[in-house]
Amino acid sequence: MSNVTLTPLRQQYLNIKQQHPDCIVLFRLGDFYETFDQDAEIAARELDLVLTGRPVSKNERVPMAGVPHHAVETYIARLIEKGYHVAVCEQVTEPDGRGLVERAVTRVLTPGTVIEPELLSDAHQNYLMAIFPNGDSASGAWQRAGLAYTDISTGEFAVTELAGENAGVLVLEELARLSPREVLMPRSWVERGVSLPAHIHLTPVDDWHFERSSAEPLLCTHFNVRTLEGFGIGEMTVGVGAAGAALFYVQTTQRGSLAQLASLRAYSTASFMVLDPFTRRNLELTETIRNRQSKGSLLGILDRTVTAMGARLLRTWLTQPLLELKRLNARLDVVEALTRDEVLRAQIRETLRQVSDLERLTNRLLIQNATPRDLAALRQTLETIPVIREIISGNTALPALYDRLNPCEPVVNEIRAGISDEPPANLNHMGVIRPGYSEELDGIYHATKDARDWIAALEPQERARTGISSLKVGFNKVFGYYIEVSHSNTGKVPPDYIRKQTLVNAERYITPELKDYEALVLNAEEQILEVERRLFAELCAKLCEQSKALLDSARALAHLDVFCALADVASREGYCRPTLTEDDLLIISAGRHPVVEHTLSDGLRYVPNDTHFDSMNRIHIITGPNMSGKSTYIRQVAIITLLAQIGSFVPADEATIGMVDRIFARIGAQDEIHAGYSTFMVEMIETARLLAGSTRRSLLILDEVGRGTSTYDGLAIARSVIEYVHNNPRLNCRTLFATHYHELTELPNVLPRARNYNVAVSEDGEQIVFLHKVVGGGADRSYGVHVAQLAGLPRPVVDRARELLQHLEQQGSNYEMHPARSRGRAVKSNPDQMNLFSPDTQQEAANPAVTMLQAMEIDNLSPIEALTKLYELKRLAGG
Ligand code: ADP
Repeated sequence: MSNVTLTPLRQQYLNIKQQHPDCIVLFRLGDFYETFDQDAEIAARELDLVLTGRPVSKNERVPMAGVPHHAVETYIARLIEKGYHVAVCEQVTEPDGRGLVERAVTRVLTPGTVIEPELLSDAHQNYLMAIFPNGDSASGAWQRAGLAYTDISTGEFAVTELAGENAGVLVLEELARLSPREVLMPRSWVERGVSLPAHIHLTPVDDWHFERSSAEPLLCTHFNVRTLEGFGIGEMTVGVGAAGAALFYVQTTQRGSLAQLASLRAYSTASFMVLDPFTRRNLELTETIRNRQSKGSLLGILDRTVTAMGARLLRTWLTQPLLELKRLNARLDVVEALTRDEVLRAQIRETLRQVSDLERLTNRLLIQNATPRDLAALRQTLETIPVIREIISGNTALPALYDRLNPCEPVVNEIRAGISDEPPANLNHMGVIRPGYSEELDGIYHATKDARDWIAALEPQERARTGISSLKVGFNKVFGYYIEVSHSNTGKVPPDYIRKQTLVNAERYITPELKDYEALVLNAEEQILEVERRLFAELCAKLCEQSKALLDSARALAHLDVFCALADVASREGYCRPTLTEDDLLIISAGRHPVVEHTLSDGLRYVPNDTHFDSMNRIHIITGPNMSGKSTYIRQVAIITLLAQIGSFVPADEATIGMVDRIFARIGAQDEIHAGYSTFMVEMIETARLLAGSTRRSLLILDEVGRGTSTYDGLAIARSVIEYVHNNPRLNCRTLFATHYHELTELPNVLPRARNYNVAVSEDGEQIVFLHKVVGGGADRSYGVHVAQLAGLPRPVVDRARELLQHLEQQGSNYEMHPARSRGRAVKSNPDQMNLFSPDTQQEAANPAVTMLQAMEIDNLSPIEALTKLYELKRLAGG
């Protein structure tokens, strides 16, 4: 296809498309945004549009699909949601009926860089993240990674470096914490294939943007500094690269200024509790495992915020619990004060409900994207601040918040003076600026009024002057205003009339004066709009000078909202203030699972449970039948700890929480989650990570780990994991291990810091009743058949299972590896069966100590005899 034959419009389109090859280009054509070629095919498919065609030269048509201009935002949202990048190409000159209208791309939208309020969720941050791995590119192993993230709708911009063999895992943890909408990585890494979770929207960026040599100057220029030392990132290498690439990318997608990215915060993941992706998921912190909704998650229970800023901050808190006692106690003090004073809380919340998203409003101001209504909302929001300050002024726990709530009076005054009370939605309509604000604008309004009055008075005036009673003043688009006189009266027309047009019955005239007034009237609207736009921009620029104060106030409002929300939950749900300590304790009395206690059906009451860990009591092995409440119980301990470390009250009567540096929550293999992997393999990888990553201060929640393989393997692995955690001085962490292997109840006999607990059931003939009460000691049966019956398996199946079970138990099946623990049932020992936890049989026969032990009747020994036997045993064992 030769360019010569292409229509000019096609040529224009191709030029623009060439500059945005990775985007779907929405090309404004009259009342539609059109897509062409392959873009059209994608748009038609993804947006259910009709695919048509458009001629582009004499003999050629190309595919075309379009959306009406007024609905374009909805379509853009759908494309972005599906992970496409969109370039919006507008007509930038007015069509004048001649030549081609000029067009240019005015917005590029990608999932991580959208700022349009319609495309953002109020409750979520919209993070763009850049990851710069450093390591062996061939093997894909990461030794170090730079990670930067930004939300350009709120101005947050932060960077960190993750080092060590674990760098890759730490990156995954940050991905899980922040859930970015879009992730940038060097193109070469993307092309080689990086193993990031499948749902991540990955955008390759040319490698050189990540190089320090281009990243550093870019950052320095943007922040207008000579060195990056001031941000505390001078020492960083890959971190600088990641931040630079992120900045480069937002610069290319955003046309306006990026003033909202006013600073770069260096952070260390060491200041937060570590929560890996599996733990977040298993504890259902922000969404449920089943349908990924926040309803039914911990966030769903806690989120009683009334502002979008508060909702976002609460989500952040929940995803990054703190490790600093002082900060947490400061948070708890405020929550406590607000919990105590219900009236105060109600008043604050009522006022906060009138508050708009000050954080995003300020950022729209900074990126020159604010609308007149945004300013009205800004004023209204700021006007509530003195009210809130007044409400909280008397409370002794709230002075810090009081000070941070800056009413930003200069901003309020400026908006009050300049912007009308109810301005139009955008600057294409008149009436944004308040009358009296600008002499120039008032002058134009005034002049127009005179001109209109003059034109309105023209007809009677000219009739009187000329004596032509049928003289008319009219208007049409081509000639503007005119004076019309019928042919019969043309003789009376005064000399200053200029003939313009001849009709069948009449002549039309103009006068120079009429044309002057006409120009005034017609230009006035354009002029007013133009002046209003200019005044508005000037006013916004003035307000931008106050952006720091505005953002500080926004954060203070968000904090207040979160504190009120936490206090509200605490007082309604009967939570208590936890006592935080650096000691190695974890003592909870009458703890509850905050989510499960809400989901119980009518008439069921949640059964609270106690927990006690201290330095000599580290590992709890929790046995009990399926459905008895093991998982609920161990998760409740994790969630109570986590809540305490965000500064929230906890669902318990009393709680002393020795602060935890990380929580690991693992659930034994679940097929549906890890499709594609061997479930057991995943389970083991996770267990390995847990053993590598935990410290003495960690909290481990292990639910049926080892389940993904055969009984022997599973049991052996479960036991060796517990032994390792118990005996390794680096670990020895507080551990809750729920299991249906009642064989593990042996362990406390050999591991002094392990304890047995079981979730009680009561038996009533063949029926069992779950009491959900955690009590000391091990369970000795699994009640699997009972559970099958409860689950509604047909009666004959249940009966047959019971029969088989008896049979197996009599035979001493594989599932009864511990004859001693089988509740007095006679079990024949089977010489072919490997007994996992005793020395092998030949050694057993050869060892006199073992023979002696076997012969011993412990129940008939007095304490003195027992001690004597012990000495004897020790001697036999060569000690
Ligand atoms: P397991 O892990 O032992 O199979 P779960 O922890 O999944 O059992 O609990 C099964 C069900 O029992 C829960 O869905 C809940 O309805 C109920 N439950 C658990 N713990 C309690 C409790 N403490 N009080 C009341 N009901 C509970």
